[in-house]
Order: sequence, then C-alpha cells, then structure tokens
Amino acid sequence: MSEHLHIKQAFELSAKFLAHKSYNSLTHAVLHYFCSLEGVEDAVSYEIFGDAKSDTGLSIRRFPITLDESFEDRNKDLMLKTLPKSKGGVACMKFSGEDYIFLDITKDVIPRRIILITGKVSSADMVLIEGVFGIYEKQVALLDAKERDMLTGLPNRQTMELSLNEVVSFHRGHKNTHIKPSWMVVLDIDHFKNINDTFGHLYGDEVLLHFAELMKKTFRYTDFLFRYGGEEFVVILNNADEEHALATIDRFHQAVQAYTFPSGKLTVSIGYTIVDPVTPPMLHFEQADRALYHAKNNGRNQIIHFRDIDSRIEVRDDDIELF
Ligand code: GH3
Ligand code: MG
Ligand code: MG
Repeated sequence: MSEHLHIKQAFELSAKFLAHKSYNSLTHAVLHYFCSLEGVEDAVSYEIFGDAKSDTGLSIRRFPITLDESFEDRNKDLMLKTLPKSKGGVACMKFSGEDYIFLDITKDVIPRRIILITGKVSSADMVLIEGVFGIYEKQVALLDAKERDMLTGLPNRQTMELSLNEVVSFHRGHKNTHIKPSWMVVLDIDHFKNINDTFGHLYGDEVLLHFAELMKKTFRYTDFLFRYGGEEFVVILNNADEEHALATIDRFHQAVQAYTFPSGKLTVSIGYTIVDPVTPPMLHFEQADRALYHAKNNGRNQIIHFRDIDSRIEVRDDDIELF
C-alpha cells in the first residue's frame, strides 16, 4: 500500500513539473519545491558560460528571480571552487561549515546549469531531489532547443519578447516604488559582413561566440541577454537609473573596442531607451532599434539614446520655423 502511495506521489510530481512549458517557470517551480522540503534553507539556480581556460574565462550568472534583488551573490566562492571539480549529477557537500546539495547539469545543454540547495535533508527527501533533478535535466534540454540560440546559448528572439512582456508588467505593478527603471538596449556589430566575406562563415560564428561571451562577462546577472538574430543582440538592463544605465552600456562599448576577436578589432553600434510601463512592450524594441539606426547612419561605433534622436528632430523643426 505505502509503495503504491510512493508511486502515485512520484507520478504526480513528474506531471506537475512536465506541465511547465518554459525554462523560467519550470525553474521557479523546481526551486520552490526544493525550498518546501524540511531542512532546506534556500535553493538558487545558476547558468555557467564559458570555461576557466578560455580567453573570456568563466562567467557565472545567477538565474534572475526578481528584478530588484541585490546582485551580490554570497555563493560566489563556493561556485568558483566547486565548478571545476564537479562532473555533473547530484552531490552533497560541506563548504565553510555549511551543508549544501549541488545539482549539476552538464549533459546536452549550453549553458551548464547548477541548482544549489543550502541545507541538509532526510535520505527519503534526497531520493525525491534526485528524481526531480532527473526530470528537470531532461526538460531543460528540451526547452533549450525551443528557447535558446544554439550557437551562443543565449535566449532567442521569441524568448526576448516574452521576457520584455514580463519586465513591462513588473514595472506596471511597481509604479511609485523604490524600484529603478529597466532599459531596452539593442546592439549590432559594425561591418560584420566583412568578417564573413574575408574569413568565412565559420570564422564569423566564432566571432559571434566571443561577442556573446563578452556580453555575459560585462553585464550583471540581473540583466537579461538575448541573441535577437544574426549579429544583433539585445540586453534588458534592470534596476538602473539613467546615469548607471549609460555607464554600463558605455563599459560594454569600450570592452568591445579593447577586445581582440579572432578576426581582429571590432566595433559595435548601440541604441537604447527606457522601459516605460505605459508603452506597449514591443514598442521599446522599435524605439531602441531606431536609435541604433541613427547610430549606424551617424558613422557607427557609438551609443544613442532614443530620447535624443527625438529631441534632435524637434530642434530641426524649430529651426525650420525660424527661417
Ligand atoms: P552594419 O555595420 O551596417 O551593421 O553592417 P553589417 O555588415 O554588420 O550588417 P549587414 O546586415 O549588412 O550584414 C550582417 C551579416 O551577418 C550578413 C549575414 O550573412 C551575417 N550573419 C547573420 N547571421 C549569421 C550567423 O549566424 N553566422 C555568421 N557567421 N554570419 C551571420
Ligand atoms: Mg551589423
Ligand atoms: Mg544587423
């Protein structure tokens, strides 16, 4: 009888997780479930890009759970020490006197994913965690094929549209609070076609990979990164006032200029706009893209704020009236 109950419970649990149709909602559900187990203090998830030996190094991005959390991650040391040793799967461990359960997905996924559970559970719950991990591992590989760009491991254009909707509705629900704004940033590599023409398409792919790795290293984990298509990328920069947003975009713009890509030096043109809760989500993309278009027409290799192109047009109108 009790064995039947266990089987029923296992089926119910797997049905519950298989019902989630996106990586975000599945991950939220799995973390929530782990946190509900007795002895668990916390459960967080990470995306691991690159590797320690590559030019761009290792980049650990905590799965964004809310837009307003502090971006200091207390598990950074543990992650840096444990990642090179782990070969995938489930492991119990101690770090600085605390108990952890380290769940590591390395098979069939880019990027590698970690779920880190703080606490110690009963051996019966450990069996459940291993079971849920098995389901999660397979579902993540399936969902990645739908939601991510396979070259860079970044979420694709469709996922960007869903995330933008979520970010806009988050701000709609947090008007007049301490939450700082989000920013829509569109980036396009300058004269990328020349790289393909000179070195070939495979070489071009390698350059895109380096560009994406540089994005992952430069932006905070609370910012959402996407490959929109071709050599065009999007960042939704979260929780930043205007000065901070521009400084962050400028830092990346300079990082690109300083970096030596497999094809040599590169530049990027960037357009951006503030995420305004009353503006329809995809209009933010169009605004940032228009600013990008101005950057391209103005000589490339520069950053343009959508607001500034509007005011420039207004100034021109005034001039016409004066003459
Ligand atoms: P601009 O400065 O105006 O942006 O010029 P550009 O050459 O970067 O832009 P254009 O849109 O003329 O060309 C983009 C090129 O990107 C053309 C296309 O073949 C190439 N491309 C698109 N997707 C990929 C990809 O996945 N891999 C590689 N290697 N090339 C790609
Ligand atoms: Mg381009
Ligand atoms: Mg382009």
